[in-house]
Amino acid sequence: MEINISKISRCEGIKENFDIIDNNQHELIFNNQTFKALPPLSVKGYAVNYEGKIEVELEISAKVEMQCSRCLEAYAQDIHVNATHMFAKEGFQTDEEEHLFKGDEIDLTEIVLNEIAAELPMKPLCSENCKGLCPVCGNNNNQSNCNCKVEEIDSRLQILKKLLDDEQGGV
Ligand SMILES: [Zn+2]
Ligand SMILES: [Zn+2]
Repeated sequence: MEINISKISRCEGIKENFDIIDNNQHELIFNNQTFKALPPLSVKGYAVNYEGKIEVELEISAKVEMQCSRCLEAYAQDIHVNATHMFAKEGFQTDEEEHLFKGDEIDLTEIVLNEIAAELPMKPLCSENCKGLCPVCGNNNNQSNCNCKVEEIDSRLQILKKLLDDEQGGV
C-alpha cells in the first residue's frame, strides 16, 4: 500500500490522487484480538505538498471478519473511514503526530490498518435485527425457530400458579 511522492515532494502545492486496491490478506489487532481484513481493501485519496510536508487524505473501505456478539456467527463488518495524516521528511519533523518518510515512497499499510481497527465495533452485530441464540437450546433464531421460549414462559407461569394455589390453599 505505497504511494509514490517523487513529483509532489519536489514542489509545494502539487496534489496527486491515488486509488489503491489491495488484494493482500491483512491482519489487525483490536482489543488484544487479531482480526482478518478481507480483500480487496480500498484506499482512495490524495497527497499534497503543504509547506514542504506531505498531507495525505485517506478514504478507506474495508471488510473485517468478525463474530456476532448475539448469534456468534462470523460475518463481514463493513468499515468506511476518512482520515488525514501528515508526513515529514526524516530530519524535518516539527510535530510528534507527523509520520516520517525517506525517499520517494510512503507506505500507508500500518496507518490504514490502525484506522480500520479504531473503527471496529465493541459489540459486533451481524445485523441490527440479529435475533441471537435461544438461551435454552442454543438454536440460532435467525435461521429457524425453536419452541423453547413458549415452554420457558409456561414453566414460569406454572410455578407462579402453584405458588398462588398454595397460598390460597393455606388461607
Ligand atoms: Zn448475529
Ligand atoms: Zn430453543
